[in-house]
Amino acid sequence: MKRLRIRIVGGSLAGLFAGILLQRDGHDVKIYERSSSGLAGRGAGLVGQHDLFRILRAIGCEHVARVGVVAHERIFLNRDGSVGETFRTPQTQISWDFLYSTVASHMAAGSYHIGQPVVQVIEGPESAQLLLADGRRENADLVIGADGLGSVVRPLLNEDPSNRFAGYVAWRGLIPETALPQEAAILLDRFAFYVTSGIHILGYLVPGPHGETGPGERRYNWVWYRPVAPGELQTLFIDADGRSFDYSLPRGALSEERLQTLRADAAAMLPPPFVKAIEAEPQPSIQGIFDFEAAKIASAHTALIGDAAFVVRPHTAMGVSKAAGDTLALREALLASEDLSEALSRYQKERLLVGKNIADHGRRLGASAL
Ligand SMILES: Cc1cc2nc3c(=O)[nH]c(=O)nc-3n(C[C@H](O)[C@H](O)[C@H](O)COP(=O)(O)OP(=O)(O)OC[C@H]3O[C@@H](n4cnc5c(N)ncnc54)[C@H](O)[C@@H]3O)c2cc1C
Repeated sequence: MKRLRIRIVGGSLAGLFAGILLQRDGHDVKIYERSSSGLAGRGAGLVGQHDLFRILRAIGCEHVARVGVVAHERIFLNRDGSVGETFRTPQTQISWDFLYSTVASHMAAGSYHIGQPVVQVIEGPESAQLLLADGRRENADLVIGADGLGSVVRPLLNEDPSNRFAGYVAWRGLIPETALPQEAAILLDRFAFYVTSGIHILGYLVPGPHGETGPGERRYNWVWYRPVAPGELQTLFIDADGRSFDYSLPRGALSEERLQTLRADAAAMLPPPFVKAIEAEPQPSIQGIFDFEAAKIASAHTALIGDAAFVVRPHTAMGVSKAAGDTLALREALLASEDLSEALSRYQKERLLVGKNIADHGRRLGASAL
């Protein structure tokens, strides 16, 4: 493929994977990322999977996959905190922060623009155009939508671009392991679950903020899936100052009153170790669980990758790996053809079914989770 002018909307992991590889292939690439504060701290730990390892190899930072914390077994707790069942299934959690910062450092200087939201993308017969929030316009041969759930690229390709609420949310906590009190020590070094009708909580250790993996330096991550009654969703993502968010409530945004309610609910419903883990988190966040399956992920001058294309439930632990797989397929299609629209339809043909299958798998896991 000749040298293309490629503009990427969204500079989280999907956007960065695509930006780096397509830049390496000689294209003129820029990423526009809305967030100005950087994205470190957005995720906790990741389960390494095949496509993630492949892309790390392609970028030249395989060592990131070795910075992980191993959970040696899975335990299922009883309501009183005793261990009901144990399974020897070791699993490694890679550091999201270390992955993000390492990958971001591979983007060529001056081509990763943070604090620059794209407000609209327009597609014409010869090219696509980005409209940035500061009024600038940029033409591109190819615009890649790597802009997640609220993608501004998605509506160009999909008549119904809306995400569907799955009926439950994930309350999340991420604390230094040293903040866990002794009564919760059973949670360390293993995946711990408490699963019963309508209740599903799990927790595990992840590396520290800079990829630290030594005892005392790691962090404890808990995730409590909770059903949400119809009508409750409107108020769920409103912060202590009345500001409303679309899909989640970030750390530090929960009012004191709601924090106390969460702790009281935990005490009434959960085994004591998890109650303690929740009490140790002063700033829990809430992630709404949504579904989206694209009918199309490519047109003549646009393509969708990552969560912009398919939102997969967190139970799959495959969001990042799917973003990596999308990117590798898009890159291979561009390498294999001299014609852009042929390459993009090849990409769509390859990834549409994969995305659908992972999304289906996530919904099945979600149905059995609560
Ligand atoms: C709390 C949490 C925990 C997770 N844990 C895991 C896990 O353990 N394993 C796993 O595989 N996946 C996990 N995921 C999912 C995973 O992070 C995503 O699937 C993965 O990062 C791919 O996402 P993405 O880059 O496509 O989209 P996102 O990560 O959502 O990034 C989209 C980016 O686009 C930017 N953006 C949006 N709109 C605009 C705009 N108009 N202009 C410019 N920029 C814009 C956003 O600021 C954002 O940075 C988790 C997600 C969350 C929220």
